[in-house]
Amino acid sequence: MNKKYVYLFSEADGSYKELLGGKGANLAEMTKIGLPVPQGFTVSTEACNLYYENKEQLSDAVADQVRENIVKLEEITGKKFGDLENPLLVSVRSGARASMPGMMDTVLNLGLNDEVVVALAKKTNNERFAYDSYRRFIQMFADVVMEIPKQQFEVIIDEMKEERNISDDAEFTAEDYKEMVQRFKDYYLKHHHETFPSDPFEQLIASVTSVFRSWNNDRAVYYRRINDIPAAWGTAVNVQEMVFGNMGDDCATGVAFTRNPATGEKKLFGEFLVNAQGEDVVAGTRTPLPMEELKDIMPDAYEEFERHCETLENHYKDMQDMEFTIENNKLYMLQTRSGKRTANAALKIAVDLVNEGLITEKEAVLQINPKQLDALLHPHFSEEALKGGKVIGTGLAASPGAASGQIVFTAKEAKEYTDKGKKAILVRLETSPEDIEGMALSEGILTARGGMTSHAAVVARGMGICCVSGSTDVSFRGDKVRIGEREYSRGDYISLDGTTGKIYEGEIASEEATISGDFEKFMNWADEYRQIGVRTNADTPKDAQQAIDFGAEGIGLVRTEHMFFEADRIKLVREMILSKDEAGRRKALDQLLPIQQSDFEGIYEVMKELPVTVRYLDPPLHEFLPTKESEMQELADDMGLTLEDIKETVAGLHEFNPMMGHRGVRLSISYPEIAEMQTKAVIRAALAVQKRLDVKVHPEIMIPLVGHITELNYVKEVVDRVANEEIEASGQELNYTVGTMIEIPRACVTADKIAESADFFSFGTNDLTQYGFGFSRDDAGNFLNDYYEKSVFEQDPFVRIDEEGVGELVKIAVEKGRSTKPNLKLGICGEHGGDPATITFLYNVGLDYVSCSPYRVPIARLAAAQASIQNPREK
Ligand code: PEP
Ligand code: MG
Repeated sequence: MNKKYVYLFSEADGSYKELLGGKGANLAEMTKIGLPVPQGFTVSTEACNLYYENKEQLSDAVADQVRENIVKLEEITGKKFGDLENPLLVSVRSGARASMPGMMDTVLNLGLNDEVVVALAKKTNNERFAYDSYRRFIQMFADVVMEIPKQQFEVIIDEMKEERNISDDAEFTAEDYKEMVQRFKDYYLKHHHETFPSDPFEQLIASVTSVFRSWNNDRAVYYRRINDIPAAWGTAVNVQEMVFGNMGDDCATGVAFTRNPATGEKKLFGEFLVNAQGEDVVAGTRTPLPMEELKDIMPDAYEEFERHCETLENHYKDMQDMEFTIENNKLYMLQTRSGKRTANAALKIAVDLVNEGLITEKEAVLQINPKQLDALLHPHFSEEALKGGKVIGTGLAASPGAASGQIVFTAKEAKEYTDKGKKAILVRLETSPEDIEGMALSEGILTARGGMTSHAAVVARGMGICCVSGSTDVSFRGDKVRIGEREYSRGDYISLDGTTGKIYEGEIASEEATISGDFEKFMNWADEYRQIGVRTNADTPKDAQQAIDFGAEGIGLVRTEHMFFEADRIKLVREMILSKDEAGRRKALDQLLPIQQSDFEGIYEVMKELPVTVRYLDPPLHEFLPTKESEMQELADDMGLTLEDIKETVAGLHEFNPMMGHRGVRLSISYPEIAEMQTKAVIRAALAVQKRLDVKVHPEIMIPLVGHITELNYVKEVVDRVANEEIEASGQELNYTVGTMIEIPRACVTADKIAESADFFSFGTNDLTQYGFGFSRDDAGNFLNDYYEKSVFEQDPFVRIDEEGVGELVKIAVEKGRSTKPNLKLGICGEHGGDPATITFLYNVGLDYVSCSPYRVPIARLAAAQASIQNPREK
């Protein structure tokens, strides 16, 4: 038997989402439960995939089945395609498995031509309606199917209004629409060099094909990337008998939600227009009326609609977003789907549905997309304020939130501005560790270079500061910055939306994030199901506290280098690096020790008995080096060296490829005294806090960038020796562990050996992605956009783990590590630890915890809970 590509609504049901898309499956389901749905059929997602396999050609098998189903639809409706007595007209609409509002295209009134329009006018006794429908069809077909710019049609409409001296479409007569049809067709011919197709079947096949083509338009590709929708899903196409909301004053069309999508309030919410067709409601050319008014205008239809809303909510157990049309007082349901909603509304609706007994707590936990919680955790621009905003550029949405302030170009300027109580937006080519203080003081950060794991992005997310990175719209000219079409100076106001990546001119008002009671209740439900831990990456007591407030259960990564970069310490660090011998280094390290110890004490005081993983120094040494001659001179004076000595050492430390250079464990091998000092600081701080607070502190010492067990063994020997000396001298007991980051491919494939010396592994997926792909973390942002545009990649591998490659390396390391130590503790502290899709993957691979920046902790908690519900682990 031939493969089936086309299904009548009556041949399927709601379980066909994968094959028929959300819209198709829901139309079938509504048909099944007896709601008034204009009938039709759905061309499957498999037909879409076949179209792409056939080099963007609709196969004959699919076209034949479309034709057969048109015949069936003719039988169901008693109308005929192209008939001159009782013509069948259809709509053609896309519908993927996940709803992608407005991402793909729609054609209405298909089946009209110069003869059929006459029959329609006669049958409805409404010539004006018939020609209005016809001109709309030409417009949509030309735009969607033939990609003829639609503005020109609007120009024609405006010209005709001007000629007639009218301002509203409602004033056009039947004769006007007839003339409009002619002008549209003339324009079509002129632009397309072919006459408008009059054969309804030809129109239909071209439209179905164009919906498949629209699956790969820029908007759809972008939307899929942001929402983790695979290209392989494809879209279905729904062909449905037209019903008309524009046949007179007893007709209407509208869109409504069963609950308020902005607030979650349980009250029918929506808009409609009398005597109009679907796109008029969304197009904004006429102002729609609120749903309550339908009650007065068409009470019977309204009451019936209310009944259907209740049926649908009870049936789908979720808030529904519906389209309807009323034709001569008769109500039709054209679509239903789970409605998009704000994060606050999502929480309220989930909690209310549980209280109403419609869903269980477990179902509620599954209902919310973890990424949506992001919006609740950062300040955001109010929708009202954004309406007046002028977008001047875009970049990567690197760290969510909203920021308005005055442009500054350096960390120092950020400090000067904020000292005066002004709000600063730090605009830079890229950021570097010295900028940390200025970054922390700024409202937001904008960079011209760098991807999602660039310094600016990682640090901003950690601090919960809004950041737009890698904007190609930003370039520097002397002491000005060009953003989009204009140059801006220091002190000019701009605004950043780190959630969308948009840059706005001027100041835009923002609102603080609020965490409502529903939020807490919901997160407690999630935690009941969660089977892996959620920790945070935090370098300061403030970040640690923030993460605890958001529910973190430990620290998975303290990046100690951030502590080295602060202004009062950098000089000591420089002295250490530039010392000619060990004695000089030790002198500087001795001065750093109490500072570092007090940093750790601050963190332990917040974390108390919760585990704290301290990662030893990691960045390339040259990042600490002085760049200005005055700084070098000062160091030379302090250290009793000459300027030439310093210059020479600095030059000697230059690296061609710092990311693969002298960093991580390599530093501790060259200079074990650094590991000694850090161990003393970790252990002494733990002992001090244990005593002070009478708690058991759990330090976990983590060695970065290990690729070979001998590297780990070398440093571990230093750590254990020093730690044991310190513990013994204190007379206290202290449990500390020593583990390693797994972030070098070689470490993954030799993880069985490395596990012999490691108490735990923490996957550094930023570096593992960098070394796995050979993509520089700091430069990949510059070219990965081309990959998405050309569909070479669907996702940013620095954001969502590449399961097949980098993920496979993680799997290998998990299996090998546990083959040596079955109870080896496994976590992740790369940026991927806050990405819901990655969390699901890592949960299934067998990790014990994930660690992410404080502002992502609730997202990770929810994602981990959902992964556990979908695939529970044996207890
Ligand atoms: C990593 O590489 O994933 C990691 C967490 O370390 P860093 O980002 O500091 O290199
Ligand atoms: Mg790393």
